[in-house]
Amino acid sequence: MARELDLKNAGLKATLPRMKVLDLFQGSKVRHMTAEDVYRLLMDEGMDVGLATIYRVLTQFEQAGLLKRHHFEGGKSIFELHDGDKHDHIVCVNTGQVVEFHDAEIEKRIEKIVKEHGFELVDHVLHIRALAPSKDGKPPARGGAAKTGRGTR
Ligand SMILES: [Zn+2]
Repeated sequence: MARELDLKNAGLKATLPRMKVLDLFQGSKVRHMTAEDVYRLLMDEGMDVGLATIYRVLTQFEQAGLLKRHHFEGGKSIFELHDGDKHDHIVCVNTGQVVEFHDAEIEKRIEKIVKEHGFELVDHVLHIRALAPSKDGKPPARGGAAKTGRGTR
């Protein structure tokens, strides 16, 4: 199975929690998940794994290069598969909703700016803080944004 090979290639033994967590990321339509999201989804599947185990597995996966860790809103780490797919993120400051995008113009501009400063581009992280439209189609309400101040938990 692919996941066992992935784990082996990453130098990790294929334990049940590791396989389950990797399954979740490889099989899920939701690309960005917190440790709590993973915990809840595994609970829904009837898996009895503690949150501490999930944190440990996610950290191991990050160190092994299987997952990428992001620090978006609210001080919580968000994980996604590290599949070499280059993209940037828009994150709602109210709901934490994450949307991916890729923009060739932005990529080009960043490369140019870096070159202009005499640097060689390695990588970039772009995360745009925004307000998602509300579900009922109303324009986003700015009011709630103040609640999610940086550094608060
Ligand atoms: Zn992403």
